[in-house]
Amino acid sequence: MKIGFIGLGNMGAPMARNLIKAGHDLTVFDLSADALAQLRDAGAQVSKSVAEIANSANMEVIITMLPASQHVKSVYLNQDGILKSVAKGVLLIDCSTIDPQTAREVAKAAKDQGNTMLDAPVSGGTGGAEAGTLTFMVGGEKEGFDRAQPLLAKMGKNIVHCGGSGNGQVAKVANNMLLGISMIATAEAMSLGVSLGMDPKVLAGIINTSSGRCWSSEIYNPYPGVVETAPASRGYTGGFGVDLMLKDLGLATEAAKFAKQPVVLGAVAQQLYQLFSSQGSGKLDFSAIINLHKN
Ligand code: NAD
Repeated sequence: MKIGFIGLGNMGAPMARNLIKAGHDLTVFDLSADALAQLRDAGAQVSKSVAEIANSANMEVIITMLPASQHVKSVYLNQDGILKSVAKGVLLIDCSTIDPQTAREVAKAAKDQGNTMLDAPVSGGTGGAEAGTLTFMVGGEKEGFDRAQPLLAKMGKNIVHCGGSGNGQVAKVANNMLLGISMIATAEAMSLGVSLGMDPKVLAGIINTSSGRCWSSEIYNPYPGVVETAPASRGYTGGFGVDLMLKDLGLATEAAKFAKQPVVLGAVAQQLYQLFSSQGSGKLDFSAIINLHKN
């Protein structure tokens, strides 16, 4: 299948490589010359612009993996954007994490000119992108989902149709808001227990066989040495950065404002990660938020 891929960063590059490995014919574009050179070495054809990809003959699918909403808007809607020149019928898949309103707005513009567009944000991080085990949360028409599914299966393991346009982003922001909150709650509980005299491993063992158990306590415990494979046990390096969590909590609180839905704990969590980031910790794994609780 002939595929265009735009946005070859930490996530996009390994995802594109997995499509090449699966035998697809990839034409790629990124603003970074280094990113393009690496994909050329992996077997992709390199393009000079977004417009060149959109204009390519026989293109069947275009995938984008960009930093944030403003990049998605410009790559699709600008004068030299995808929608200006893409042929009718080409399936458009945006895997970036952006706000649901923008996802819906761009998908509507695509539909108005004869292209199905899906929002398909991912979870699983760079490790999942390398291993091809991402989860895709997909919003958009079922017909588009059915066309995209075999392709997404080359980059991920769990591909879920979440409903209409924007719903992939809704699922992503709801999950990540819960994760951000649960990490802070776990950090507080662990810090309280340890400062009152408990051994952190014994405390985690109790929590993880009791009603306080959650992913943050069991798989990704923020207390160093409790889970050997968690970022906490390697100085909070690798994993999912504070600034990426902050971005997702910002999307959640913005979406909540739009829906007039209170997200009290989500907003508090956003402020705590903001405080932590402003202290110079934005690049650490988000579980390092436990350092705010240290006496
Ligand atoms: P990144 O910053 O590493 O990569 C983004 C790439 O987009 C860069 O290479 C940049 O040059 C390119 N780009 C920006 N504007 C462009 C334009 N106009 N034309 C062409 N290329 C352009 O980001 P990432 O970590 O790969 O994340 C991508 C998306 O995936 C984000 O929305 C992020 O929130 C989401 N996400 C990231 C992770 C993670 O662990 N990194 C996990 C899940 C979801």
